[in-house]
Amino acid sequence: MSRRETDLRGPRDETVVVVRSARRKRTVSITRRNGQLEVSIPASFTRGQEKQWVEKMLARVKAKEERRKLGDEELLARARHLVDTYLDSRAYPVSVTWSQRQHTTWGTCTPSDATIRLASVLQTMPDWVLDYVLVHELTHLLHPDHSEEFWALVARYPRSERARGYLDGYAAARDR
Ligand SMILES: [Zn+2]
Repeated sequence: MSRRETDLRGPRDETVVVVRSARRKRTVSITRRNGQLEVSIPASFTRGQEKQWVEKMLARVKAKEERRKLGDEELLARARHLVDTYLDSRAYPVSVTWSQRQHTTWGTCTPSDATIRLASVLQTMPDWVLDYVLVHELTHLLHPDHSEEFWALVARYPRSERARGYLDGYAAARDR
């Protein structure tokens, strides 16, 4: 068995180590050990195969961790940050939670108790789309309707239009 440190870094800025093992025939695996990311490959791999597989396994770990579900506290903190950034600190929610049962709406807001619920499918979408839905629902704390004033506030979030396009495209593909 041989270990070699690469100059690659993992998603948490870890060192990436390649472990070559004569016992391995074809399988490749990646694990976190002692603060490093270890990619185990068969000893017979060429340098080219090594490079290809290390990149593939790293991309897999990154994708998985980027889709990590935010907890309720993290969601609330994210919402508060958005309120401070785009809504003049005027609309703090009491709670923001995920909902498994929401299929036709991306989010709902109950202004009377300042609670927001988000469809859990948003966990699979880019952060800027999640932030758009949050800004949209947070703005409902100030304007329960979809009035001009409402949309003017939502438009302060720079990627509003792009996020709406993303969500419309997603819904169209899903409903097809
Ligand atoms: Zn709305």
